[in-house]
Amino acid sequence: MANQCGKLYVVATPIGNLGDISFRAIETLKQVDLIAAEDTRHVGLLLSHYGISNKKVSLHQHNEDKASLMLLEKLREGLSIALVSDAGTPLLSDPGMPLVKLVKDAGLDVVPIPGACALIAALSAAGLPVSQFTFEGFAPRTSSARKAFFSERVLSPVTWVIYESSHRILACLEDMAAVLPLDREIVIARELTKLHETIVKTNLADALALVAREENMRKGEFVVIVDGAVLEKTEQEVSPEQLRVLGILLKGCPLKTAVALAVEITGGRKKLLYQAALAMQETQ
Ligand code: SAM
Repeated sequence: MANQCGKLYVVATPIGNLGDISFRAIETLKQVDLIAAEDTRHVGLLLSHYGISNKKVSLHQHNEDKASLMLLEKLREGLSIALVSDAGTPLLSDPGMPLVKLVKDAGLDVVPIPGACALIAALSAAGLPVSQFTFEGFAPRTSSARKAFFSERVLSPVTWVIYESSHRILACLEDMAAVLPLDREIVIARELTKLHETIVKTNLADALALVAREENMRKGEFVVIVDGAVLEKTEQEVSPEQLRVLGILLKGCPLKTAVALAVEITGGRKKLLYQAALAMQETQ
């Protein structure tokens, strides 16, 4: 059955520098019957750069479910399809997840064609620990939600990464500074692979001062990487998931109740969760 069906290729495209596309990605884009793109005009510029003129259909966050069903039918008819986003790797803070899930669940082949991804590019040049990290996508848009989001991550023992836009980068760092210790190491990776690429590694206080002072540091696209917390041994025994649950509970319950519920939900040790809750409250 799957043999007669077409394949879905998930193709990474450049995040700035048009040279950052693999030979295999170009070959795939040339050979498929259909290119499903987040923005067909935007990807058209990239495709014409490589002399590719295949048929395009749009698949974006507002039509994803319907478009994915239509694309599954095309695959079943035997057509091959490439999924691309505006930049970088599809699905990573980009559309595509419903389509990939649908195709996998239908038992058809999904083939990754790897390449640029802002998160990985930033991590590779950051100089912060990367053997374990969490990718958190875009931080919330409002200040109160951002502060809550950062408080839930303040004790994360591993490096964490967010995407941010030019119009929120300053407010994002201000909120981070209101919640995290000011000496926490962070990396701001801006305009990766482009003319004004800037990768600054410093502490949170200096990063905030730099972005507030220099207008250029508020322009372009950003990846922000935050070093993990150096925790006491007891705190290390509390898992990131337990901390996440505790952080949520602390927003709505008194400390003791939050700890009791966290113990019940996560099965964590009461004493450790109590200490972690105290530490969380001190940083707020
Ligand atoms: N799928 C993409 C990827 O693989 O990185 C990410 C798409 S997401 C909609 C766009 C965000 O990724 C931007 O707001 C920015 O945070 C980050 N980003 C994309 N390109 C970037 C670049 N060249 N330099 C820094 N950050 C970038």
